[in-house]
Amino acid sequence: MTTHSYRCGKSNCACHSNPPHLHGPYTQWTRQSAGRTIHVNPSAEQIEDYMPWFENGAEIHRLVREFESLTLSVLERDPRFEQH
Ligand SMILES: [Zn+2]
Repeated sequence: MTTHSYRCGKSNCACHSNPPHLHGPYTQWTRQSAGRTIHVNPSAEQIEDYMPWFENGAEIHRLVREFESLTLSVLERDPRFEQH
């Protein structure tokens, strides 16, 4: 989950004033699917209800990256390993 604020395209909007009043903050759930980045914007209530789901998903991805990194370091130590 990432939280961010942004400026819109309307030049007369408060987000372009000085000091700016940015839109947001919005909490976005970003994930990869078939090589594409997909952004989902759940409501504040949904974020609260589904927080364990988002956290579990993030933890699974962290574990997969850790496992892949471990696999690579073991492969590289194997005498049969050839760098291409
Ligand atoms: Zn704006």
